[in-house]
Amino acid sequence: MAALELRELRKTYRSRGRPAVDAVRGLDLSLEPGELLGLLGPSGCGKSTTLRMIAGLEAVTGGDILVGGASVAGRPAQQRNIGVAFENYALYPPLTVAENLAFGLKARPRGRRGDVSRKVAEIAERVGLTDVLGARPAGLSSGQKQRVSLARALIREPDVLLLDEPLSHLDAAQRDTTRRELKRIQRDLGHTTILVTHDQEEALSLADRIAVMKDGVIQQLGTPYEIYDSP
Ligand code: ADP
Ligand code: ADP
Repeated sequence: MAALELRELRKTYRSRGRPAVDAVRGLDLSLEPGELLGLLGPSGCGKSTTLRMIAGLEAVTGGDILVGGASVAGRPAQQRNIGVAFENYALYPPLTVAENLAFGLKARPRGRRGDVSRKVAEIAERVGLTDVLGARPAGLSSGQKQRVSLARALIREPDVLLLDEPLSHLDAAQRDTTRRELKRIQRDLGHTTILVTHDQEEALSLADRIAVMKDGVIQQLGTPYEIYDSP
């Protein structure tokens, strides 16, 4: 069974006095368990809207979203076990890194949280945040902040992980290191993941398959080799 399936997914933004925007226009996609899909496409093609609908941060206009075979399109975000690391999905400034990570677990049902401090320590170790667990977001570099976002998504052991430009704020050297770390995390934890990126190298090194979006639909879908070698 597919870990994540999008069926004829659609989103039309309507606001008074402005023309409607068909941001996503009938998107079909199916991800195998543990697969990492790279989602590419020009700005405005509907990538963020798609991720927000999967996460439950945006209502769908039509179609369905299935996680592990069950429809979640009508469920609120808290009732979907989706981990998100979005650029504008801010960390909570008054909370320390450890508290921000523990906050990621609050989205889980109480009985399924387990030992919070052990999980925080484990995930911090995995993404290299152990030394800054007591710091507040304002004191972190942008690379560290991105790691906290990633760790906060991972700590929930999500059914699906959504990453929107997870390396965008890093310089070239950090990007290299973090990309390798992401690859290791993906190998060890095997989350079903959609990764939005503009970076061809990132897509090539991390993605099992690549979907290229244009004007709200998927225009091309294939292995990185097929996508980048096609004329
Ligand atoms: P991408 O992530 O690929 O840049 P988006 O999903 O952000 O694309 O946007 C897709 C289209 O929907 C764009 O035309 C954008 O302007 C529009 N859009 C995105 N969010 C909103 C919104 N909240 N209200 C109205 N239009 C929106
Ligand atoms: P992204 O590519 O990350 O979506 P954008 O600049 O397109 O970045 O969007 C940033 C925010 O602005 C998003 O939350 C989106 O919902 C909102 N937004 C984008 N386009 C529009 C629009 N045309 N009208 C209203 N809100 C929009």
